[in-house]
Amino acid sequence: MESTFEASRQLYNGCLGEGKRRLSLLRQSKDYQKARSLKKEDPNRKKLFKQAKDQYQFNEYSLHAYAGELKNSWIGEHIGINLAQKLATRAYAALEKLLYRKAKRVRFKTKNQLDSIEEKTNTTGIMWKEMGVKFQDHFIPAIVDPSDPVIVYALSKRIKYCRLVQRRVRGQTLYYIQLICEGTPLSLSERKSLKIKSGKVILPENHGTTGLDLGPSTVAIVGEKSAGLHQFCDELKDKEVELRKLQRKLDRQRRANNPKNFEKNGRVKSGPKKWVSSSYQRHTQTKAAELGRTNAAHRKSLHGKLINENIRLDSEICLEKLSYRSFQKNFGKSVGNRAPGMFIERLKRKAENACGSVIEFSTFKTRLSQTCICGKREKKPLSQRIHQCGCGVKAQRDLFSAYLARFVQDDRLDVSAAKESWTGAETLLRTAFEWKCQTASRGTCPSSFGISKEILEKSGSSAQEGTECTLRKPNDKTWNAVKLGLTPGMRVQESQMEFLFRTPLL
Ligand SMILES: [Zn+2]
Repeated sequence: MESTFEASRQLYNGCLGEGKRRLSLLRQSKDYQKARSLKKEDPNRKKLFKQAKDQYQFNEYSLHAYAGELKNSWIGEHIGINLAQKLATRAYAALEKLLYRKAKRVRFKTKNQLDSIEEKTNTTGIMWKEMGVKFQDHFIPAIVDPSDPVIVYALSKRIKYCRLVQRRVRGQTLYYIQLICEGTPLSLSERKSLKIKSGKVILPENHGTTGLDLGPSTVAIVGEKSAGLHQFCDELKDKEVELRKLQRKLDRQRRANNPKNFEKNGRVKSGPKKWVSSSYQRHTQTKAAELGRTNAAHRKSLHGKLINENIRLDSEICLEKLSYRSFQKNFGKSVGNRAPGMFIERLKRKAENACGSVIEFSTFKTRLSQTCICGKREKKPLSQRIHQCGCGVKAQRDLFSAYLARFVQDDRLDVSAAKESWTGAETLLRTAFEWKCQTASRGTCPSSFGISKEILEKSGSSAQEGTECTLRKPNDKTWNAVKLGLTPGMRVQESQMEFLFRTPLL
């Protein structure tokens, strides 16, 4: 083995030396000099470079041929043609760095400086066969731990080629074989959950399913053992308001600067016209553009945070296939600004990397928001944020939809399975909702949670306002929603709080 490494080293140095000679010739050539003087956009520049390279045979394949020639000596007794070509490729890669001025010099390998050699295939030279290395006439069995599931998994794949590595450990030379396998590497969570059964690896198939319900301002996530109700990019709200203000300002400035371009009713006149902008207007424009940029960056980080912290990515994630365009139409610009479509795309990509999957099902075929686990279907108005059925099931609407989403297969809801798991999930959903209620009272809270601001304010210290509680719809129409038996000045007890949230809104 030592002689193989030594022969490889000599061959590498040979290729490097020859390549260096060709490179210096190339650099002196007229074509090369002429090409250098040309501008980068000039198509002739590329042509001339190639011409010069061909003339002095400075390319990977010529170097392969040169390596083949070198091999026709004592070196050939130790290494095969594939190995020689790979070494030539390595030498060429080093020289290319020199050519493109990414390196200042190339170094020849002194004794024991070449530590790894690799083949092109697993059919010649250094081969992996029957749990060992076949090498010339020798067979060296490898030391493999058969109880390590990661190793067993890797060995079950096709081996593309081998790499031999030598390392010096406490004065001793140790040889390692590295196998380059086909397929995708395991994710960290998969590695942990791998198991071996009678010499074969069993990949954990069922990572569980997670249901997702994406609303205009909320995301409900229900997994097997966890549930959560989250605000969807609520932190962007202030920026949206600010951006809107700036855009209005911009509009005013545009109108002030170009009064002739507008009709009396405020519309833009038709036909060709000239636009003038003041320096103040341009200042506003830059400001708006900057705000738009930071807004996008903030949104991206919020999306990532929501995905990473709350969703089990290695599971099967089920959600309704939404038309994000209609979403935007119905709920307005601010929702579009939160980019639910982009969020889903990102989720898909992340889930794929973590060996999970995202399944989108049809909204029309399943109609989850109208369905109960008893099979009853009833249309609820959008204002009704709590699902309550005659069969005794009661839960926050989004969380309930997300729970049901877990049991959808091929665009159909498996009602019996959903019913079976309900007892365990009920407390899960309630805790998630209550937790959200508590945290919401500290900060802002969107109306779609089913907790109106007034209720929260009242529950704070004492109910000072009237007995009527109002609820806001996402489109900002206010209507009376709940009538409670609270009189002004009355304190809201904790048990009443429960009642407040549990009561269906009429
Ligand atoms: Zn029911």
